Amino acid sequence: MSKKLGGIAAVIWAVNIFVLLGLGALLYASGVLGAAARSDSPPDAALFPLAGESTRTPFPTVTLVSPPTRRPTITPWPTPSPGPSVTPMQMPPGNYRVIGHSVEGRPLEVFRFGSGPTSKLIVAGIHGGYEHNTVRLAEELIAFLNDHPEVIPADTSLYILRNLNPDGSARALGLDGRANANNVDLNRNWPYNWKKEWNRSGCWIWRPIEGGEYAGSEPEVRALIAHIDNIKPVALISYHSAALGIFAGGRPDFPPSIRLAEAVAEVTDYPWPPIDTGCDYTGNLTDWAANTRAIPSIDIELTNHRDTDFTQNLRVLQVFLAWRP
Ligand SMILES: [Zn+2]
Repeated sequence: MSKKLGGIAAVIWAVNIFVLLGLGALLYASGVLGAAARSDSPPDAALFPLAGESTRTPFPTVTLVSPPTRRPTITPWPTPSPGPSVTPMQMPPGNYRVIGHSVEGRPLEVFRFGSGPTSKLIVAGIHGGYEHNTVRLAEELIAFLNDHPEVIPADTSLYILRNLNPDGSARALGLDGRANANNVDLNRNWPYNWKKEWNRSGCWIWRPIEGGEYAGSEPEVRALIAHIDNIKPVALISYHSAALGIFAGGRPDFPPSIRLAEAVAEVTDYPWPPIDTGCDYTGNLTDWAANTRAIPSIDIELTNHRDTDFTQNLRVLQVFLAWRP
């Protein structure tokens, strides 16, 4: 190609690029891209303020956006309206229960929605104050379901454990809030592939946290085992933060957990397969549930340690409730 023709081609390409950029800007301005982009800006309100927080702002108005075309079609749910000021003690006694207590005696609170024979379980706060946004997410889901009990399928009972590690949450919102009051990582105390110590390579190393004196040594873990054996869930989600994605419980792989992870991945931006840091996750809840109870189980990591990703996790809830093993 001659130098002159090359120059003309360059000009044509430049014009093309400008036209495409202009079209993109027009589409964006007209809301086409805006509608496709999902927003998970966090609600500012803590529905259950921590001690010392006196103000409570109204429940955020959440707009359920249509999923992009590659995602399965899901019928939008009701938009949450400014909700009642819900605290656990104000819950109707029929759907709120204490299943045990932490090392320091704090209640482990489970909320039940629906009364069908098929049980499903959501666990939040296993890493306490270090991942406290998972507890706030659980509270937002509880408030939503109080307002919209009709979204629970007739055959289903959904259980939400608000905070498995209230002692950690009470101690600190941050690194010091991860362990329970015995300095045990509650996601490494489960009686499957349990180790007191593990190779820290690729793992969380910011505090000298342990797996417990023996497998299942911690009262929080024992209480949840008893609850799981009581309700016999057909699927389980354990919420964490942050950022590594969706983990399917089971070692070796447990296909039903992988199917649940894939279903959730379809409606979220969370990485799947999860980011592999090389960490050996010994004695964790979802491996235990998959391997010893054959429960399809996944861990979901929120995007960061602050936001609840509420809109995104309403879609997760919708998929979770519709999911069948
Ligand atoms: Zn965690």
